[in-house]
Parts: sequence; C-alpha cells; structure tokens
Amino acid sequence: MNLEKFGAVVVAAGNSTRMGGKVSKVLAPLGGKPLLRWSLEALCACEEIGQLVLVCREEDSEAAAAVARGLPKPVTLALGGRERQESVLSGISALTEDWDYLLIHDGARPLVTPELIRRVCADTLRYGASAAAVKAKDTCKLIDSSGFVKETPPREWLMSVQTPQAFKRDLYLYAARRAVDSGLGYTDDCQLIEAAGGRVHLTEGEYRNLKVTTPEDLLAAEAYLQRKVVGTMRVGTGYDVHRLTEGRKLILGGVEIPYEKGLLGHSDADVLTHAVADALLGAAALGDIGKLFPDTDPRYAGIDSLKLLSTVCEGVRAAGFSISNIDVTLVAQQPKVAPYIQQMRENLAVACGIDTERVSVKATTEEGLGFTGEGLGMAASAVCLLE
Ligand code: MG
Repeated sequence: MNLEKFGAVVVAAGNSTRMGGKVSKVLAPLGGKPLLRWSLEALCACEEIGQLVLVCREEDSEAAAAVARGLPKPVTLALGGRERQESVLSGISALTEDWDYLLIHDGARPLVTPELIRRVCADTLRYGASAAAVKAKDTCKLIDSSGFVKETPPREWLMSVQTPQAFKRDLYLYAARRAVDSGLGYTDDCQLIEAAGGRVHLTEGEYRNLKVTTPEDLLAAEAYLQRKVVGTMRVGTGYDVHRLTEGRKLILGGVEIPYEKGLLGHSDADVLTHAVADALLGAAALGDIGKLFPDTDPRYAGIDSLKLLSTVCEGVRAAGFSISNIDVTLVAQQPKVAPYIQQMRENLAVACGIDTERVSVKATTEEGLGFTGEGLGMAASAVCLLE
C-alpha cells in the first residue's frame, strides 16, 4: 500500500463532436503544445501524484503516447470505453499499484494548476472525497420536460463542479461497483459517491480551469495562457548596508579588495552580494536573506556570501524561475573598485549559474554626503528579473 499517495487517471476519451470532430480536442494545439500535455505537466509537478494513467480513444493512442513522452513521471496508456464511467474504470485498472487514493482529471481541462491539484489532494486526505468547484456565475433554472422554468434555486446554493476530483480508493471502488450493479450511468464521479450515500467535499476551484468543449473555449484558454506568460516575468529589488570598521577584510562581489577597513557583519558582510540575493528572493516572493540565514546561526559566521547566493538561486530555481538579468549598484566613497568590477560580475554569475553577460555591477559615490560619503559604511542596491 502507498499511504497518502494518489494514482491519477486523466480521461481524454470523449468524442469531439462540438469541436468539429476531426482532431480529438485533447490533441488540439494550445500555447505551443497539445492541449492534453498541459494537465499532464501540472499533475507531474505534484509530489502527491504517484502514477499517471492516460485514458484515450484507440484512434488517438499513438498521438496520445507521443504527448505523454518525456514527462518526469511515467504515464501508462489505457483505452477508453463507451461511457465516461467505463473509461475511468479502465484507467484505474491500468494503475500498476494499489494507491490509497485516486484522482480523476478531465484531459479537456488544460489550465488546471498544481496548486489546485494539491488543494484537492489535501481535502481528500481529510474528507475521503473532494472535487474542485466554483460558485455558479449565472442564475440557473430547473426546467420541466417541455422546457419551461420549474424552479429557480438560490444562486448561493449552486456550485459548478470541475475536475480534479479525488477519492479514497476503497470508497470509490465500492461506489463504482454499486453503480455498475444498478446499471445507472453517471457523468460525474462525485455522483457515484453521492449515490452510494457518501459525502463529497468541495474544494475551491479556479474559474480559469475551464473545460475546452467548443472552439471558443480553446480561444479563451489561449488568452489565459498568454496572460500567464506575461505574468511569469517577475521583478525584484534588494538593498543592503554594512558599517565600515578596522580589522576586517573588504569583500565585495566575492572579491577581496585591499583597503584600510572592511565591512562589519556576521558573514563576510559582502554588501553587494547580499543586495543581489535579496533582489532574487524578492522577485520570487521567497522572503529575505535575514530570514533564510539568521545572523544568530553560528553556521553562517564568516561565511562566503557567494555560497549564500548559490543557495538562494537554488531556491529560486526550485520555485520554477530562471534568472533573466541582475543589475547592482555599489554606493561607496572609497576605495576605487573599477579594476575589480569584471571579477565581481564573474563571481556573481558563477554563484547564480548564469552567463556573465546577464550580470551588471556598477559603483557610485554619494559626493561625500551621508554615511557612505563620510566613509562610515557602504550600501548596495540591486534589481533583477526572473522568468
Ligand atoms: Mg547584509
């Protein structure tokens, strides 16, 4: 048994009549890749997911296998049935391990986010069954068989259910067996649990997690993705000050510079590198170096700040960002740092794992004014762009 892990079934076996029917809608191009690939990637990004099965139509199986290639988690292919329920069960039986939990996602919902998947998983661990859902935007009517309004339920009672939906495996299989025995077909997996007397929790979904059913939906999905591309550029600023004192080395951008004084601090007090690290953390909204490397921690006493910067960059990368460029300005009255600028750029670039061309280091004085002008300390200010 695999405690607390989910076997994921992605259902992509529907016919595509409303999309014109030629190419299966899940294989239509979206944002430069097949539509189906988006949700597979989102699922692969969640450590809650132990294994993936992709359920497709027989005529799509070759193309679906190509879409599933090269993902960080193995994806098993299964063939769909005539009804949605059959397709889901076909997917479940293709899981090679008895995961404690099952997660079912509609392959036609490409804009699902790893965050939403994780929220559904967390709620399922707590409640046994949970499905993504959003508040109904439109007023909905119950109608009679002749198409006239029978009743208007209060909108605050109405939720539009999406996928992912996730269930404790035993609960789902029990409910599915009952459904097969009763001969009733269901269009939604929650309904199985409801029909078996189980309680289904709803997790707050996302309106962007739309189901691509018509060509208009495909355009809407494309528009969401384009906004997302713009939205993933992130800017950050960092600012730091250290006091100058006698009896310390002066280290700036990892370069030891001959001078009568050095900067005071718990680490090597490299004010330039600290500003860069804070800019990167700021852009990724990951806090600041004071929080990450507290000056009360003896591990960081006298430490090379380039090492701290490398750790920061690992965190930034783990959060899914790459560094586009860094620009940092040192504010110091003395000494002249121009001969060391190139070496500082190279040191910072190596610590960040990027090309030197992406790192700019400048220096200025404050014309004898203020604490930097009087030689009491140095300051540095940095900006960076993440993508
Ligand atoms: Mg500092």
